Amino acid sequence: MINMVYCSNCGKELNDDANFCTNCGTRTPKGIKEGVTIPWTETEIKQDLDKALKKASKAIDEGVKVARETLKEVASELDKEIKSVKEKRRPINCAVCGEENPRSAKYCTKCGNLL
Ligand SMILES: [Zn+2]
Ligand SMILES: [Zn+2]
Repeated sequence: MINMVYCSNCGKELNDDANFCTNCGTRTPKGIKEGVTIPWTETEIKQDLDKALKKASKAIDEGVKVARETLKEVASELDKEIKSVKEKRRPINCAVCGEENPRSAKYCTKCGNLL
């Protein structure tokens, strides 16, 4: 016949070969006697926390990197945009007389040549 043991913490009925309470995870006297280690020791929790923190800070670093790259892209796009606006504003030189005409002009102001 199986001898029943009870959890010292919550009083749950456990098999006598149990090392841990199935209800609350407390080590049974048998578990203590056999020196079974508790899976979630404080150091392990701390290590996991450290790992999680490192992971998080790495993720933040990655995020900053990506943001920086994006900013660079935006800046270069803006630069291109400014250049193209400047390009559009640059006067056109008439092919016939060489007169500088504004970009918006269709005909040369000096000789009437179609620009
Ligand atoms: Zn228990
Ligand atoms: Zn002209």
